[in-house]
Amino acid sequence: MTTMSEWRDRAASLKFRNGIYIDGAFRDAASGGRFETVNPANAAVLTAVARGTAEDIDAAVASARRAFDDGRWSGKTPAERKEVLLRLAALIRDNVPELALLDTLDMGKPITDSITIDAPGSAHFFQWHAEAIDKLYDEIAPTGSGNLAMIRRMPLGVIGAVVPWNFPLDMATWKLAPALATGNSVVLKPAEQSPLSALMLAELASEAGLPDGVLNVVPGFGEDAGRALGLHPDVDAIVFTGSTKVGKMFMTYAGTSNMKQVWLETGGKSPNLVFADADLEQAAQMAAFGILFNSGEVCSANSRLLVHRSVQEEFTAKLIAATAAWPMGDPLDPATRMGPLVEKSHADRVARYIEIGRGEARLAHGGVRETRDGSDCYIGATIFNDVAPDARIAREEIFGPVLAVTPFDTDEEALRIANDSEYGLAASVWTRDLSRALSVSDRLRVGTVSVNTVDALSAMTPFGGVKQSGFGRDLSIHSFDKYCALKTVWVKY
Ligand code: NAD
Repeated sequence: MTTMSEWRDRAASLKFRNGIYIDGAFRDAASGGRFETVNPANAAVLTAVARGTAEDIDAAVASARRAFDDGRWSGKTPAERKEVLLRLAALIRDNVPELALLDTLDMGKPITDSITIDAPGSAHFFQWHAEAIDKLYDEIAPTGSGNLAMIRRMPLGVIGAVVPWNFPLDMATWKLAPALATGNSVVLKPAEQSPLSALMLAELASEAGLPDGVLNVVPGFGEDAGRALGLHPDVDAIVFTGSTKVGKMFMTYAGTSNMKQVWLETGGKSPNLVFADADLEQAAQMAAFGILFNSGEVCSANSRLLVHRSVQEEFTAKLIAATAAWPMGDPLDPATRMGPLVEKSHADRVARYIEIGRGEARLAHGGVRETRDGSDCYIGATIFNDVAPDARIAREEIFGPVLAVTPFDTDEEALRIANDSEYGLAASVWTRDLSRALSVSDRLRVGTVSVNTVDALSAMTPFGGVKQSGFGRDLSIHSFDKYCALKTVWVKY
């Protein structure tokens, strides 16, 4: 196993790619502007990245459009695209340590997670979508003889992808893999907090044989580069993962420009329902995972815990004990399971919610913010008990390691509280009663229900939400739907 000091040595010798990637090459921003990307573990500046604005978005979209129109990628067969994307998956595997290190340095996630989950996950998702694309058949409609009506899946054209910082490489991958497999060209805008792994990915894609112009990456801020992409008249679809507030802006951008398609994966306040007949020990271990993995910076974090009143205190004690398995520390230390939050302003926001929580509920554990290595982005596991369902900490997405525990008396009440949310991304259910598990799952208004586990997720199953958690699905065969238009070609004979 690589030690912390070996990771530090590797980090010290890293070469950061910090330009805008257009037409297969790095360049400066048209304005010459740059922004600093900071390591939240120690507040050190990693590098100054080219700050893309509307002019750079124009250049990137023009490059993507040229590539799409001349067929250098869109005109290849699915099997040819598969070969290139499989080579990309292999290159990602060859570069797992460097990609993992980039995400860890950029946004603070533990190296143990980025090396075992994020970076290999990116290779896996590219491979899965690549392997699927030449097994997907189009359709012939049952129109009867004398007619041949074909229903064909056509790539949309130029896709704008705008992604967040919590899983920088994987959120980009979830968009790029199906978008590229289906033959589109893409302009990717990574989050300003974490642009580095996406820039390396673009370079690896070129090395794998992706033609120039098919994937362009424009780092920059949301309000200028992101907005310009959302408003661009020559972008056919926006695929977005991020906050509900910004997701709504993309709908407005589309409505005030060219009515491009908009597909949103947005916020969540996912409930975890623990019934009295559950395996409480296992449920407590996994409830800790559900709120502490990635320091709670997870859209589907199980941030509301609804527990049957008869086991509330027993369960909460087990849960608090389970947090001991989540040491907070330097993200380059392989033993660390919780690193710093992504940036100071976000840690300030989470700390404000902890203050709000102190006034609304009973602090059962944690609530501590620490300064380490000159960074005050470290917030430990925090559990509030006896939280009223209408408390702010039970309703608003905090996006940190802060859990709200609320007791319930009946299944009906648990369901009512669980569904009384503007969000509908995910939910978990813990019970040994199969009938209860299925009937509760039926009635939860969410995109994914995990029964006797949390955050069930795979390349094979769709991921996304209902209500203000968004629409459209990432992952699985269904992800291709967002990147294709159905075309009917009807031949009379
Ligand atoms: P965010 O909405 O602030 O930013 C996401 C992206 O949008 C970034 O690239 C950002 O630069 C861009 N952006 C910001 N303001 C913009 C504007 N005015 N116009 C255009 N683009 C703009 O979200 P975040 O803080 O980076 O990420 C956290 C959020 O992401 C949480 O709400 C979380 O739930 C959500 N998320 C959802 C999923 C999901 O699949 N549903 C997955 C991960 C994260």
